[in-house]
Amino acid sequence: MVKRPSLGFGRALCALSLAAACSTASRDAASVTAEPAPIAAARYTVDLGRTPLMGQGHGVLLIGYDVEAIGPDETVEFLRKSVALHRELGAPATYFSTGLTLETVAGEFRALAADPLFDVETHTYTHERLKPLFEERPEGTRFLAASSPDALAASVARSIAASAEVLGQPSIGMTAPFGAYRGLVDRPDLLALLEAAGVRFVRAYSRNERDWQPVPFDVQPFWYALQGHPRILEIPVQGWQDVLWRETHGWDDLAGYRDLLDDALDTVAARNLVWSYCAHDWGSLRGDPDLSLIRHLLVEARRRGIVLATHRGFYEAALASSPPA
Ligand SMILES: [Zn+2]
Repeated sequence: MVKRPSLGFGRALCALSLAAACSTASRDAASVTAEPAPIAAARYTVDLGRTPLMGQGHGVLLIGYDVEAIGPDETVEFLRKSVALHRELGAPATYFSTGLTLETVAGEFRALAADPLFDVETHTYTHERLKPLFEERPEGTRFLAASSPDALAASVARSIAASAEVLGQPSIGMTAPFGAYRGLVDRPDLLALLEAAGVRFVRAYSRNERDWQPVPFDVQPFWYALQGHPRILEIPVQGWQDVLWRETHGWDDLAGYRDLLDDALDTVAARNLVWSYCAHDWGSLRGDPDLSLIRHLLVEARRRGIVLATHRGFYEAALASSPPA
């Protein structure tokens, strides 16, 4: 005859919980599901010293423009001026365009995409939000809901189809509209959605713990390996996005914004970091019709020995140098 435990069911569960919480040995005995062991960060982050692109010791700057303006005139003006500036300085850049804007100004995008200085990636079709935001701004807080998974999947697929149609090859990179704190580390469902659509690198980590700015420069590119998507690279957007700082501090405070850029460049160069900088078509010309802020950023980056690359170039260098296990 089997001897029955003397504890009642409720008390037995309670004892089991306590044992599980108190010791590894007890936890092993009591667990009903296997939990993964912790992995050292070096196993899923990008080793900057492994390629010529990233091993020069003064950091890497990736310029990424989100292109999303509703009216095409502003976008066309921005594209023409920014392309001319980048060509003059020989500085690469990435344009993350919504599919709708890409189709609206297709000719401009076709012309710039033919230049190896530039790559064109996506920003969903009509700016769908991946994750909800609880955005604590200085002037108050707001909650912004996420798009439904079906709407998001349709938007991403449509934007990539648009890039294939307009440019002759599909985009493989994406800036997540609005971004989110910690990117997609807690959303393997969204990573699966992006991977199925063909996305291979994403700028989703562009908010801090208040779903606001700035994002610390300690946040560096990493593979979503722990979430089961080791071939998707997160390229976080650190510091301030241009429009969020400038609408908070004043669109005419160009000197203040130059100081902010200089401080960020000093940090990147001194610590040999990767910085994905986020600017916007509709904000770049506001109070700065000649793009003097972008010129300042590019010139000062070069002066500090910071390497400039496109996001796709960085992704390919990362994949070649430190592919995830
Ligand atoms: Zn956007």
